[in-house]
Amino acid sequence: MQQKKILQARKRIALIAHDHKKAELIEWATYNKAVLARHELYATGTTGQLVEQALDVSVRKLLSGPLGGDQQIGALVATGGLDVIIFFWDPMEALPHDPDIKALLRLGVVWNIPMASNRASADFLLTSPLMHQEYEAILPDYSQYTSRKI
Ligand code: PGA
Repeated sequence: MQQKKILQARKRIALIAHDHKKAELIEWATYNKAVLARHELYATGTTGQLVEQALDVSVRKLLSGPLGGDQQIGALVATGGLDVIIFFWDPMEALPHDPDIKALLRLGVVWNIPMASNRASADFLLTSPLMHQEYEAILPDYSQYTSRKI
């Protein structure tokens, strides 16, 4: 059976950037400060500190990514606590928490979360009219999976 979830006009947005992508995320967030300030911001620890300093807005900071922050964001996604993910991950470096990164990206797809992994996608997402209005997201049908016979 098809399930839906309502994303409110004020979105809960997670911001994450790997170390070599932090400058780019901060530049993007600073440019978009006025829009971001209208939403509720979450971030992995270090990214959150940098965003708070640069934008002078409050950010709900989770643990640093490699220490469990990506997993905390994943848990929020799975329990309906987040609406949008802006995740500037680094395609040029192997990171120790690669399984956590993959797990988060996977859960974002599982729960039909709007996700941007680079600046152009983040621009398209943030300028969508849907960012500022209520939106009814259709969730994939997992009923066959949840009612499977083992
Ligand atoms: P950080 O974590 O914001 O604490 O640096 C980001 C990550 O590596 O996932």
